[in-house]
Amino acid sequence: MNLLEILEGLNVEIREQELLKDYTTLKIGGMVRYMVVPEDVQTATEVVKRLRESSVDFFVLGGGSNLLVPDSGIECVVLLLRGLKNIQILGQAPSVVVYAESGVALQGLVSLAMKQGLSGLEGLVGIPGSLGGAVFGNAGAFGYEIMNVVEEIDILRKGSRMVIKKEDLSYGYRDGGLLEGDVILSTRLRLEVTEPERIKRKMIEYLNIKKQTQPLDEPSAGCVFKNPPGESAGRLIDLAGCKGLTKGDIQVSTKHANFFVNKGQGRAEDFIALMDEVRERVLRIFSIELEPEIRILTKGCTSK
Ligand SMILES: Cc1cc2nc3c(=O)[nH]c(=O)nc-3n(C[C@H](O)[C@H](O)[C@H](O)COP(=O)(O)OP(=O)(O)OC[C@H]3O[C@@H](n4cnc5c(N)ncnc54)[C@H](O)[C@@H]3O)c2cc1C
Repeated sequence: MNLLEILEGLNVEIREQELLKDYTTLKIGGMVRYMVVPEDVQTATEVVKRLRESSVDFFVLGGGSNLLVPDSGIECVVLLLRGLKNIQILGQAPSVVVYAESGVALQGLVSLAMKQGLSGLEGLVGIPGSLGGAVFGNAGAFGYEIMNVVEEIDILRKGSRMVIKKEDLSYGYRDGGLLEGDVILSTRLRLEVTEPERIKRKMIEYLNIKKQTQPLDEPSAGCVFKNPPGESAGRLIDLAGCKGLTKGDIQVSTKHANFFVNKGQGRAEDFIALMDEVRERVLRIFSIELEPEIRILTKGCTSK
């Protein structure tokens, strides 16, 4: 059975032959045959159920801001959850619960929190991508992590819908504690009511730091490597003399050594070669093995 038959009768958009470079902040990635774009939680649930029943492999794509996609594209179906974007604020001061669906842009949520005077997301200002991607990878900066404010997550696991409480997840640094293949539908976040001005001041301060230290005007996927315990990956890469190192059109940013930027026609192949070289140099000089922070997708749609 082909995909169109499997999803027959469902009111869901199916895009064909999409270039994934158009869906990633790095502007890298080949073709996918089918991209399914549900507009609500119920449809997404039904799509996942049918794909699982028919043993069709799929990959959940959020904002594509933490991803390296192969130049030759991928063989599975892409499930794009950008249409799931409802937000509701529940409860009253001193703290509220925000229900937000996975496709909500993280920066949309951050600016809503700022306007409404809801504290807890200040350090996430400027991080691109979707809420689903942020929760999956426990995005954070400046001592903030999204999992600090998550209460529970509504997911599909092996086709079954379930709500997982934060206490039941072993999340950590850049890891929301979910399983490979879980589909996050929505999240409830607990935020503290405070003065909007206080939040705004902090966010402006953090944004200014980002602008000064990160190459935000060039395509990238954010930090390439995780910080080793007690160390900064960027500092090690810089000290290993890698700033400005280039493979094809991919360059170790001269502004922030843990960002690799695409200077034009960058390829995943070059990105990986550059990662290998940087990792080897850091290992040789500091005896520290850097681990990727970005998700590297294979053609067969496993990600690591
Ligand atoms: C300029 C720049 C700055 C950045 N700064 C930071 C930073 O300060 N801190 C930080 O932590 N990150 C940072 N990042 C990295 C990135 O923005 C975050 O990791 C972001 O949270 C990824 O979200 P996304 O929606 O783009 O996920 P994607 O890149 O689309 O996907 C990442 C992973 O999450 C999974 N995923 C996405 N949505 C779902 C879902 N609904 N259900 C299940 N799995 C899902 C995908 O399958 C994939 O494995 C930066 C990136 C850029 C380009």
